[in-house]
Amino acid sequence: MRRPLVAGNWKMNGSLESVRSLLDGIGRGVGDVKSAEVAVCPPYIYLPEVEKLLSGSDIAWGGQDLSTESSGAYTGEVAASMLNDFGCKYVIVGHSERRTYHAESDQLVAKKYAVARAAGLVPILCIGETLEEREAGTTNEVVARQLDAVIALEGVDALAHGVIAYEPVWAIGTGKTATPDQAQEVHAFIRSRVAEKSSEVAEGLRILYGGSMKPGNAAELIGKSDIDGGLIGGASLTAEDFLGICTAAD
Ligand code: PEP
Repeated sequence: MRRPLVAGNWKMNGSLESVRSLLDGIGRGVGDVKSAEVAVCPPYIYLPEVEKLLSGSDIAWGGQDLSTESSGAYTGEVAASMLNDFGCKYVIVGHSERRTYHAESDQLVAKKYAVARAAGLVPILCIGETLEEREAGTTNEVVARQLDAVIALEGVDALAHGVIAYEPVWAIGTGKTATPDQAQEVHAFIRSRVAEKSSEVAEGLRILYGGSMKPGNAAELIGKSDIDGGLIGGASLTAEDFLGICTAAD
């Protein structure tokens, strides 16, 4: 039985004040969430505050990215050990915004996955196709390539220590959601791809859906057999919407 996970990706949003009030709102409602796991991924700069406010709660937290390097002359980068210093459980790797705006390759993302794992963090590996790729009928090819980069570097067992987020790029922040059937089809493909190497790893692997998930569509998406929760962008910025999705995942 895979425990559903709902993780909020706050991206580069918020202020110290809004972080406090958002966590206060989530904290007030999260007690009603019984079986799903809940996590938030704030901008790095707010991690000390998030740690202070969430320590001892049932809500986990994580980074939105990390460096492949452990320390040194890498201006602007943040190491895995630094995420550990502030109690992170999770770290997102390979988000499409990193792949697009920072030219992160499949190989770099795989390295980040490996570095996160080695540091004891749980990587949330984002994979997904663009609209052009979907229209060209290459969705499976694209997600397989992104997934295989991690398996090639680390072996399939590495996936036993991580989470996958299937995020069709055309659905992120656009208000266009993949239909539950469209999402389920790709999730089933991802699981079957992993099962070719290890049925045990595939069975235990949590595969989240991400892309304009909201309280109104979450239950139907997460109700699909291979969808194990959500990675939430926009709707994770208001406590009511985020909690609505957490409740749906329950
Ligand atoms: C995301 O960026 O991971 C995401 C899913 O964003 P949104 O929910 O806003 O589409």
